[in-house]
Amino acid sequence: MIQPPPAPLRLRIDPQALAGNWRALDAKSGAARAGAAVKADGYGLGAMHVVPVLRDAGVQDFFVAHWCEVPALLAHLPPGQIAVLHGPVTAEDAAYALGTGVRPVINSVQQARLWLGAGGGLCDLMVDTGMNRLGLPPSQLNEPDIARLQVHTLHSHLASADEDSAQNREQLALFRQVAGARSAGRRALANSAGIALGADYAFDLTRPGIALYGGTPRGELADEIRQVAFPQARILQVRQLDAGDRVGYNGVFTAPGPMRVATVALGYADGYLRAWGGRGVLHAGTDRLPLLGRVSMDMVVADLSAAPHLGPGDWLDVPYTLHDAAQASGLSQYELLTLLGPRLERFVAG
Ligand SMILES: *Cc1c(COP(=O)(O)O)cnc(C)c1O
Repeated sequence: MIQPPPAPLRLRIDPQALAGNWRALDAKSGAARAGAAVKADGYGLGAMHVVPVLRDAGVQDFFVAHWCEVPALLAHLPPGQIAVLHGPVTAEDAAYALGTGVRPVINSVQQARLWLGAGGGLCDLMVDTGMNRLGLPPSQLNEPDIARLQVHTLHSHLASADEDSAQNREQLALFRQVAGARSAGRRALANSAGIALGADYAFDLTRPGIALYGGTPRGELADEIRQVAFPQARILQVRQLDAGDRVGYNGVFTAPGPMRVATVALGYADGYLRAWGGRGVLHAGTDRLPLLGRVSMDMVVADLSAAPHLGPGDWLDVPYTLHDAAQASGLSQYELLTLLGPRLERFVAG
């Protein structure tokens, strides 16, 4: 089969920034080690790209949400370095955990029974300290099937670490009680934002995700965390507009005078949502190219006045520092990354 040409849209992943972000989070974790949340295909960057970089930087604990995410990690890691946050929901899940040697995170008495029934062994245990999402209620810690678990790492998860909320201290106090009552090899509470809350929250292991990939859920991280994911798209066509010409679906932009515009290969099917219509810009080097009109499924149109020499095939940068992009779009930093679609060709380059 003839190979197709490279895609006209791509996502550059900067390995130095990714490794540097992990080192910064590991240092901020104090005596604790930082692991890495790589669920949702490495927050949309591609687990196959981010896992080897993080492994080579020194990460030894990787977390995914679902069992179907495990094979992409097993290609690069020994099974003992992987834990599945959602735990076994079916007997097939438990059998797969045993067969691969990947640790389940047990979240309920029901999951403990499934795991013990399948043969059991080392597992992690997630205790809910106030988020009421996944995890064992502390009142059930003495259930016999929980007491029988061989717990490698005892976890809880912070609900509001990105805010100065009283809930952070409440969850910390409850997690301390739980950790005193239930022996485990290690204890882990903090996500990215939790690391920025200080050493009290670090325990033995931290589980950063978004900040590895350039997100800054708290201002304290802004100085050290660097952008990792850089979207780019090619110009498909350029045209000259006259005053009064309208652009795109529903003609919501009308040219005030003669202007040169570029049609660019990036649309809402790629995760560049309609939220960007009328407020997004593209960059050509340091030149700003404001978007005109609606975002289409596969295209946007940008004002080429600042870079009139550009033409079809030229690459444009999509400004995507997560804090600023979240402010501009109204999307969360997490959504901005995990939305990016499969047509963006991921590649690792410094
Ligand atoms: C996703 C997740 C993390 C990582 O959170 P970030 O806010 O991305 O740092 C940590 N722990 C658990 C249980 C998670 O589900």
